[in-house]
Amino acid sequence: MHKPSNSADRQGIGQDQFLTILSREEALARFEAALFPRAIAAEERQLADALGLALAESVVAPIDVPSFDRANVDGFAVRSADIAAASEGQPVRLTLNGETIACGVTPELTVLPGTATPISTGGPLPRGADAIVMVENTHPSEGDAIEVGRSASPGQFVSHAGSDIAMGEIVLRVGMVIGSREIGMLAACGIASIPVARKPHVAVLSTGDELVQPGEALPSAGIYDTNGAIVTAAVSENGGEAEFLGSFPDDEARLEAAMRQALATHDMLILSGGTSKGAGDVSHRIVARLGQPGIIAHGIALKPGKPLCLAVCDGKPIVILPGFPTSAMFTFHDMIVPVLRRMAGLPPRTDAQVTARVPLRIASEIGRTEFVMVSLVKGQEGLVAYPTGKGSGAITSFAQADGFIRIEALADHMPAGSETQVTLFTPQVRVPDLSIIGSHCTGLDRVVAPLVRDGFSVRVLAVGSLGGLAAARRGECDLAPIHLLDEKTGRYNEPFLEAGLELVPGWRRMQGIVFRPGDLRFEGLDAHDAVRAALADPDCLMVNRNQGAGTRILIDTLLGSARPDGYWNQPRSHNAVAAAVAQKRADWGVTIAPVAEASGLGFIPLAEEHYDFALVTARKDRPAVKTFLAALQSEESRISLEQAGFRRA
Ligand code: AMP
Ligand code: MG
Repeated sequence: MHKPSNSADRQGIGQDQFLTILSREEALARFEAALFPRAIAAEERQLADALGLALAESVVAPIDVPSFDRANVDGFAVRSADIAAASEGQPVRLTLNGETIACGVTPELTVLPGTATPISTGGPLPRGADAIVMVENTHPSEGDAIEVGRSASPGQFVSHAGSDIAMGEIVLRVGMVIGSREIGMLAACGIASIPVARKPHVAVLSTGDELVQPGEALPSAGIYDTNGAIVTAAVSENGGEAEFLGSFPDDEARLEAAMRQALATHDMLILSGGTSKGAGDVSHRIVARLGQPGIIAHGIALKPGKPLCLAVCDGKPIVILPGFPTSAMFTFHDMIVPVLRRMAGLPPRTDAQVTARVPLRIASEIGRTEFVMVSLVKGQEGLVAYPTGKGSGAITSFAQADGFIRIEALADHMPAGSETQVTLFTPQVRVPDLSIIGSHCTGLDRVVAPLVRDGFSVRVLAVGSLGGLAAARRGECDLAPIHLLDEKTGRYNEPFLEAGLELVPGWRRMQGIVFRPGDLRFEGLDAHDAVRAALADPDCLMVNRNQGAGTRILIDTLLGSARPDGYWNQPRSHNAVAAAVAQKRADWGVTIAPVAEASGLGFIPLAEEHYDFALVTARKDRPAVKTFLAALQSEESRISLEQAGFRRA
């Protein structure tokens, strides 16, 4: 069958195009204008039930705290003028009044000149007195009197009424989130219940025929529903009460029924997927019939995130996030969180922003606001935001990412060294104790394990060997793991070190040819015979590696001038090679032994690759670095590395 391939033809089979693309700012402004101002639904809650909720109205103190002048120490209430001349050598004698003021006791006698009244911490100051002298600065004297050996300034050891909280003062402002501290202040004012904003009830739905819920078996071509879980949690983190309603196939009738039901019982709907105007993408068509004014923006100049769809149906926001999880998260945090927080009576999020410097030039498309996922590390001065994005489909980059930066639509790049705002995914910045930036290896997890056990936070960013060396040169990491073969000398790693870096030997990784067990073209052969057999069979498909990988140099040496079918399939990792062979997209490739074993593939050893560390000399005395170097040398890691198929250097 002929498959239409140009966009005009595709429109013919149900692809609409985004006719009007709005800028991020315009889309947000229109969305907010359609939603606000609106009344915040408030409810009265007992203090204990108000934890984590936003205050719906400012609270004014109904009383002074303390409500009387209060003694701060155990001692005697006195007139400071009486003892102005007192000293250890010339104490002043004061007669005691006939009452003792404990906490909770209302004084009845006036402190007249020449007298004092015993008082406990927390007791109310009696009439006439203006200061407290500490018991330690007095001696009992005969005939119900004391001798005071030190002078006192007026007001000494007295907390005056209202000095903590003054009656009529605003104690807590509208929008503040109630924590234990706030509850304490309210309790001190005698307030038992407060008006809080009712959390918006948000229904979360995922759409896509391919989606499977975590916990269920994954069919081939299936995808675990990531957005459902992450959006539900992110809604709760930002003041909403989220209810996940499950994932729905791209079936217009079923989805519409679910959406109508959800809309009847919730304040907001967040869907994901099905919003690129493809043939199977139905959600936006449903939204268009759910209420007025309907779709506000569909197609926004964001990268990634262009298919984001914003709608308001009879006062309730409906959002369709793009299907790719990272796109969904960028657009959620950048465009939806501000609206959600406003509906929840919360002020804009300021705790989730930090300033950081970008270490390298980041290219960007003109005309679209671009989001770039970043990891924070501590640079020589301040925070450095490392781009960690792997394309809009990647979820793994989340694990290392702290947040994202935004490159404005009119910029074609962000220059190296720019200071920029990072929007954090969660409000805590976690700057790691140890930064390892370079080529990743599963062996690394084993060496790092004892550090993590000892409470060090460790960040490993996979940017490849050359990227790691650049980070090390700029002082942005402690160690850069590398495996670079110098073609001229045939030596690994050491020829690539520059001043300021030193080589720490790591381990060896056996590389070899992988094939599916039982493939008689390879079974039992040595590497060179295996390659010869592969080249002799025109149906035999290879998988290569990317230019610049040490493994690629090995493959090119093996192949000589041959360019067999599959040569241009050049994935960037050892794991991708194994997956291609295991899934029969290729018949052979070169990868490392532990990866071959984990994928259950046959393996013909070829040559050892050296996986070492470029250590930043200036950082070698940091405690986490010392601990890492010790861990690397330990018997524990030798055994652990060997179990995983590596041989320590
Ligand atoms: P769509 O926006 O429906 O065209 O989806 C774009 C991409 O995101 C596809 O690769 C989907 O499989 C993927 N995707 C959509 N929804 C989800 C989800 N809830 N979790 C993980 N991936 C998803
Ligand atoms: Mg879909």
